[in-house]
Amino acid sequence: MPKPRVQIRPRRRPPLRFLPLGGCGEIGMNLSLYGYGDEGQEDAWIAVDCGMMIRQDLPDSPLQVPNLATPETLGIVPRALVITHGHEDHIGAAAWLWPKWGCPIHATPLAAGLLRAKFAERGLSTDAIQVIEPGEAMETGPFTLRFLPVTHSIPESCSLLITAGEHRVLHTGDWKLDPEPLLGAPISPATFRAIAPVDLVVGDSTNAPMPGDSRSEGEVAEALEHAIARCEGRVVVSCFASNLARVLAIGRAAERCGRRVSLMGRSMERMVAVARGLGYLDDFPPLVPSSDLGYLPPEEVLVIATGSQGSRAPRCSDWPGGDTARWSWAPATA
Ligand SMILES: [Zn+2]
Repeated sequence: MPKPRVQIRPRRRPPLRFLPLGGCGEIGMNLSLYGYGDEGQEDAWIAVDCGMMIRQDLPDSPLQVPNLATPETLGIVPRALVITHGHEDHIGAAAWLWPKWGCPIHATPLAAGLLRAKFAERGLSTDAIQVIEPGEAMETGPFTLRFLPVTHSIPESCSLLITAGEHRVLHTGDWKLDPEPLLGAPISPATFRAIAPVDLVVGDSTNAPMPGDSRSEGEVAEALEHAIARCEGRVVVSCFASNLARVLAIGRAAERCGRRVSLMGRSMERMVAVARGLGYLDDFPPLVPSSDLGYLPPEEVLVIATGSQGSRAPRCSDWPGGDTARWSWAPATA
């Protein structure tokens, strides 16, 4: 008599859900949600990053933040917000959206410091902001998150290895394979070899699909110094405040060209103050208050300014002294 056939069905593992709300196929406004529930359990969710949009075509547009209509309709409230690094397009919307969640926020020290400053400016409590060091791991609900250090233009940037049930996802955050990053160490290939295999890589870095490679921050620093050395009169260099490696390069170049440094723009002042408090920028030159710039000979002045992405000249009539003819302007984008 033939034996009854035994059917072995592969065990169906509960799915990991991924809901990108910004930063996919666009620059800025990064916010991704991951959801997972063990068998019989309701899905728990985490949010990765909470950034604002940076629109180069709308220079005077108001702040744009991710739209939460879909998660709100689905009743999704993340149990934790996890930050990969302190750039505005990864943390800039947190002070607006986080109050809807009220969950713990996990960030490396610099990003945590910047978030605290932003929350304080908006009168929000900073108690939810918790510090995690690059290289460490944490658990929240069914998720385990390992913060893997990567090179980027701001220190303490991390990729996240997200594990939930049997799923393993590498959420890269922003990264750059830079042999001379100015701040922090180059990416360790061994760290990333050791986490293989993963089920999914969620890659997220500006222009990463474009072929070729971009220049090292070290090369940018050299080019900036050459450009500044050729300038006459006062010099204004504009860049993103959160591009800390670039800010450091400009400060060093100014010193080597015999110029005193002043900062303009609230976010630039906040970034440099928080970074200095954490021991970054120890070799950044002393700062001159912008109100004192008028007392210095023009050829000894360099201003690092935010409020422009380096794509257009700021309105020079706003600068101290107002004598527009005596200012040089150098965009520091690369
Ligand atoms: Zn970034």
